[in-house]
Order: sequence, then structure tokens, then C-alpha cells
Amino acid sequence: MLLEEINILRHHGLQYVPDVSKVELTPLFRGRPVISSGITPFEADMLKELCPTSAISTHGGLQIDLGKCVFCKECQFACPGKIKFTNDYRIASSNREGLIIREGEDKPLTVDPASVREEIRRMFGRSLKLRQVSAGGDNSCEMELNAAGNVNFDMGRYGIEFVASPRHADGIVITGTITENMSRALQITYDAVPSPKLVILVGTDAISGGIFASSPALQRGFLDNIHVDLYVPGNPAHPLTFINGLLDMLGRKA
Ligand code: SF4
Repeated sequence: MLLEEINILRHHGLQYVPDVSKVELTPLFRGRPVISSGITPFEADMLKELCPTSAISTHGGLQIDLGKCVFCKECQFACPGKIKFTNDYRIASSNREGLIIREGEDKPLTVDPASVREEIRRMFGRSLKLRQVSAGGDNSCEMELNAAGNVNFDMGRYGIEFVASPRHADGIVITGTITENMSRALQITYDAVPSPKLVILVGTDAISGGIFASSPALQRGFLDNIHVDLYVPGNPAHPLTFINGLLDMLGRKA
């Protein structure tokens, strides 16, 4: 009986991802884009026009703002060979400017340690409890965040967990566009977290409003009064993007 169970375990193999910073995702995954330096002014204007979320701008060369990008790949389809979405999922940043991809650049995005508040690493480096708030989310980022705790991604091994009560949390993870209906609940949840506390925005909707950015149903004033510690782009964000961003922010990588 015991032998049979051992054989089943052997047959299943490793269930967890051993190193979350060195995974080779499928080439179909839409991660960090690379923009070739050969974009013509005509192509730049055309790309700017076709982007559904104004993620493309042309200040000092073509740029893609991952905080606004919904990873629809329309720009890649329009300029194949000049814009390519790679399978690099390490795209979280501790500052908003860090989400800008510039023409001719092809290097991984990293969390700038200088922009991480000192108390974050000192107090939460070994144990981080988070309360998730879906502020008008569509359940896509929320499902990916659930997956971050499953047996494959297993963020619990780093001492990172979601908790039910904001009073037991060290910070909040916001998904969704932040609708008017959720703005007060979000503020109440934030106020209930003891200080010092951190705020993490997960997904394009939370970072910029995404395709709903100009909707009158949104009330994003909450973000004007708080400091965001980590931006995790994606539409939805991948669990590995979330976990890598957290580990970078916490200084948990070798
Ligand atoms: S993939 Fe991003 S940058 Fe390209 S068109 Fe879509 S939203 Fe715009």
C-alpha cells in the first residue's frame, strides 16, 4: 500500500516550481515587449493610433507603458519584426516609470532597491501577510493571485500569504479598475491595516484603469493619497510576475 503511494508520488514528479525566477514560459505568453530601433515616424503614428489604451507614445522614440498595455498584441501584428512580445514575465516595478519600455531596449525589468521603503525589507522580508481587494475586478487577476498560492507556485514557502482580515495584514493587493462602488470599501480596508503598510497594484486595470480608464463609473482618487510600493502589470498578471516582484521588493533574491 505504502509502496503504491510512493510510486504515485514518483510518477507525479516535482509539483512545485523550484526556482520562480528562472522559468521558461511558453513562447505564446505575452510578457515584456521589445521594440526595434527601426520604427519609422509613419509606423510610430500608426501604432499610437491603433493602441486601444493609449499605452504607446512617441516621446523621444516609441515607448510602451506596461501600466496601460492590455497585451492585445495589435501593435505586434501591425509591425511584425519591429515589435515583439517576449515570454519574459519579470516585469514588476517599484515605481511607475519603471513600467515604460523604450525603443531599442532589450533588458529585463527589475525593482530598483533605492525606491523600496527601508521598513519594508526590515519588517516584512521574512513574513508578509496581504489582504486582497477586488475593486471592480473581472476575476482574472484574482484567479491568478489565487494560483500564486497553489502547489505549483507556492508563494507560502517564502512566508507570503493572503489573510482574511485587513487587521491581520501588512498591506493590500488591489485588483480591478477601482470603481465608484468600491472606492469607500477600499479606503476602509486600507485604513484597517496597521502601519507601516504597503500597497500593491496588480494588473493593468488597477494600475491605470485599462480600457475603462475614462469611464465615469471609476473613482480612483484613493491612489492620489497613498504610496504604491509595487506595480505588477499584466492582463491578467501572471502568478510568477507577482511572486518575482514581491521577492525583488523584499530583497529575497540572491
Ligand atoms: S499590445 Fe499593448 S501597446 Fe500594443 S496595441 Fe495592445 S495595448 Fe497597445
